[in-house]
Amino acid sequence: MDPREPRLLGTQCRACGTYFFPAERTFCRNPACDEADLREVELSRTGKLWSYTSANYKPPAPFVAKEPFEPFAIAAVELEEEGITILGQVADGLGVEALEAGMPMELVLRELYQDDEHIYMTWNWKPMDGGGA
Ligand SMILES: [Zn+2]
Repeated sequence: MDPREPRLLGTQCRACGTYFFPAERTFCRNPACDEADLREVELSRTGKLWSYTSANYKPPAPFVAKEPFEPFAIAAVELEEEGITILGQVADGLGVEALEAGMPMELVLRELYQDDEHIYMTWNWKPMDGGGA
């Protein structure tokens, strides 16, 4: 996987085509489908901004917040191909004033924190067209 083009892993039901993120692995949650035939898929890394909000208070653990806490924006992005909506924090330094419903967004990776053995990554949404950072 190209780190400059990160993708989230979800699953898709082979029977009805429904996509799931976070990945559903036990059964298809489509009530009209009773299959349990799920395959792992790489989801689209771009989508359309469906809704967004500003988080002005520090979320509880396991959220890793900056100290001192800085408000950040949260975006709900609808993946074009899969038709599902994925929530994510908006890339550092971009507040709600940088966002507009319907704008194209792309997935970027951000280092969350590291310990002696691992670097923990998370995903952020960032407006396309070089908007902001
Ligand atoms: Zn299904």
